[in-house]
Amino acid sequence: MSDSKQEDFSVAVVGAGIAGLALAIGLHKHNIPFTLYEEAPQYSTVGAGIGFGPNGLLAMDLIGEGFRPKYESICVGNKSARDQDVFFEGLLCEEGLGLDKDWYGRSSWGSPNYTRKSAHRKELLDILTSFIPIENVKFSKRLSNLEQHGDKAVLHFSDGEVVKASVVVGADGIQSVVRDHVLRPLSPDQVEPVYAQSYAYRAVIPMEAANEILGDLTDTAKIYVGQDRNVVTYRITGGKEFNFLHCVYTDAAWPTPDSMTQEVTHEEMMADFEGHGIDERLLRLLGKAKPIRWGLFHHLRSSTYFRGRAVLMGDSAHASLPYQAAGAGQGVEDALILSTVLGHVSKVSSKENLTAALEAYDAVRRPRAQRQLEQSLEAGELLSSQDPKAGSDMEQVLQRMQGDRFDWLWFHDLRQDVQLAREEMEQRLSTSVNGSE
Ligand SMILES: Cc1cc2nc3c(=O)[nH]c(=O)nc-3n(C[C@H](O)[C@H](O)[C@H](O)COP(=O)(O)OP(=O)(O)OC[C@H]3O[C@@H](n4cnc5c(N)ncnc54)[C@H](O)[C@@H]3O)c2cc1C
Repeated sequence: MSDSKQEDFSVAVVGAGIAGLALAIGLHKHNIPFTLYEEAPQYSTVGAGIGFGPNGLLAMDLIGEGFRPKYESICVGNKSARDQDVFFEGLLCEEGLGLDKDWYGRSSWGSPNYTRKSAHRKELLDILTSFIPIENVKFSKRLSNLEQHGDKAVLHFSDGEVVKASVVVGADGIQSVVRDHVLRPLSPDQVEPVYAQSYAYRAVIPMEAANEILGDLTDTAKIYVGQDRNVVTYRITGGKEFNFLHCVYTDAAWPTPDSMTQEVTHEEMMADFEGHGIDERLLRLLGKAKPIRWGLFHHLRSSTYFRGRAVLMGDSAHASLPYQAAGAGQGVEDALILSTVLGHVSKVSSKENLTAALEAYDAVRRPRAQRQLEQSLEAGELLSSQDPKAGSDMEQVLQRMQGDRFDWLWFHDLRQDVQLAREEMEQRLSTSVNGSE
């Protein structure tokens, strides 16, 4: 039995980050009525690098015409034509950077079918937002609480407004209010993000400044491996800017539980790398970052991505460590599958349809996103000499990063996922119809 008419079907998306915006493009394409609620007064302007693998690019293609070409127009690869298929080249943090080691010259990982494509996050957001009617977006709207009554999700915003929708999508990032609503009654221990005993300093600087320090080492994306430390660098903004990330692993608890960032002094920041035998070039690079520690957290376990009319996507579902540069790509994959199944529901809105759609989304997306975040955790350990087997043996580290490690992630058949999601949904609907006969 239909519990709301087709024309009543509406989606509330909470959070205008990469995941929420990508979903909005998909919903718009499927003509599904939606409103995007963002707590900030405007779209984010955070300056940082972002990269997508072939899976993310394919997801863009399948979500909406024109999305991928626009992204490709702002992204950049490694400088030399020879290194376009290099994801990262491995070196060391220690003095000399490992340039004199036997493995130097064969320390990159990637794939012949991979092409590096990184961009400035702000430019990506500009592209995403160009596809979305601005009248569907409401800024300065912080979701403070969520309830479900009958055939509606009821959203309470901190300015006092109360809104009803057929389904609410939590694209509200790692500290998600919607995640709390979905998981608290079922798996309360899975609500909070888990501190990965690791934090990072990050910055985007002009390429000339980076070249002055690193010379032609800036040409190809690098991960410098050290004991309990690593440094990630790559070109963005058409090669005009340079993105870097200095990561530290620590046994200490995260000191500011209410915030994922911690301001420290310049001296404290430098002390995290000085005195550890780190190459002076990496120290000079770090000196250009703001002394802010970005805590690295992830959602290691999620027993479900939905409950009733509330569903999770992006970092609210599967926040991950950054070592496979894959978190945003997984958010775009979520957007593809979720917009597909909601497209079906919106045609014949009923509770059974919605449940079948969200079950299908959960079945297709959760195992894959889970695998990515577990592999990212492992990559972080490998790349900071913490892996129990490889330790600081670079030959072993490289062996594990090279080969076909990323094939399942990058070259996955997303068209088949779309098909599978449809089939999963239909199968559940036919089971519920037969079961009720
Ligand atoms: C250092 C680092 C490097 C990375 N590099 C890469 C990379 O190269 N490639 C890649 O694919 N991924 C990368 N990632 C991961 C990627 O950045 C994230 O997975 C992605 O940005 C998450 O997008 P999101 O939209 O899910 O969440 P967010 O970007 O966190 O967006 C959430 C949005 O929701 C809003 N919001 C939050 N709470 C509320 C509320 N209660 N009410 C209303 N609005 C709310 C926020 O203001 C925000 O706009 C990296 C991550 C880190 C930390």
